[in-house]
Amino acid sequence: MEKRINGHTKLYALIGSPVGHSGSPAMQNYSFEKLGLDCAYLAFDIPLEKTKDALDAFRTLHVGGFNVTMPCKTAVAQLVDRLSPAAEVIGACNTVVVEEDGTMTGHNTDGVGFIHNLREHGVEVKGQKIVLLGTGGAATAIAVQAALDGVEEIAIFNRKDEFYANGEKTVEKIRRAVPGIGSVSINDLDDAELLKEAVGRADILINATRAGMSPLENVMPVPEEVLRPELAVADVVYNPRETLLVRKAKEAGCRAATGGIGMLLWQGAAAFELFTGQKMPVEEVREKFFAE
Ligand code: NAD
Repeated sequence: MEKRINGHTKLYALIGSPVGHSGSPAMQNYSFEKLGLDCAYLAFDIPLEKTKDALDAFRTLHVGGFNVTMPCKTAVAQLVDRLSPAAEVIGACNTVVVEEDGTMTGHNTDGVGFIHNLREHGVEVKGQKIVLLGTGGAATAIAVQAALDGVEEIAIFNRKDEFYANGEKTVEKIRRAVPGIGSVSINDLDDAELLKEAVGRADILINATRAGMSPLENVMPVPEEVLRPELAVADVVYNPRETLLVRKAKEAGCRAATGGIGMLLWQGAAAFELFTGQKMPVEEVREKFFAE
């Protein structure tokens, strides 16, 4: 590391709070080193009210780009100069590229990371019917990216909690951004009959809620009976690595059953490419940081 850092080293960063648990610094620095890039990546704990200060500082310091985690994703989308089409519709960004003149372009790589992981598991979204559980940050990114990528139908389900209204907004945003989409709806996760019927005719079931994530690791987001071999099942949760839903999907013989670690890897790989213009050495990163 000492050899790599010099007077020209370009800085990349992560902001949000907390950031101490994040795997991004390790993944990005390892990739810089592997490719011999004169760059370094550090995490900064930035509370929401300091978001603008952080962006101003990054402009002053000529930081090359940065990732954004909770709670700053929406604020950053409102502060940058330009947004990618997906980040514009999602209304949040997790990756920002900073030009030499300080111009900041916000992207959201969560959706593309999720779709890339699905593809790696043999599942394409184009023309498919999706049931998506959740209306938080991860779910919104996935819904918008899937719509932009040509999905035929998205039935979003969520509990009638404080996130439900966000789902209503997402439906409106998708209808405006992708008027050709077959159908997009928001529904009550507690309506068991409606959920069963929707999953019954879906090609892909996605869990983008906290159900299944520690300490909710024993929570199944849908009744086990709806799982069937024709269904592909994808979870965004990666802690635990194999969620209860993914385990039950495998037991039910679902055509694909994947957890969230691949999404984490591929959203980071997409950010790396936006930062450097080069492909992340994904297989080496996977082996080093994400081996089962
Ligand atoms: P969020 O706080 O924005 O949204 C939480 C969602 O979970 C809401 O839809 C809420 O209604 C739902 N929820 C909470 N408790 C629930 C329960 N007991 N039953 C059913 N629904 C419940 O969170 P987020 O940032 O969207 O993250 C959601 C999950 O996605 C987390 O587990 C997070 O770790 C994971 N995630 C994974 C990646 C990845 O790269 N794999 C990226 C982002 C988020």
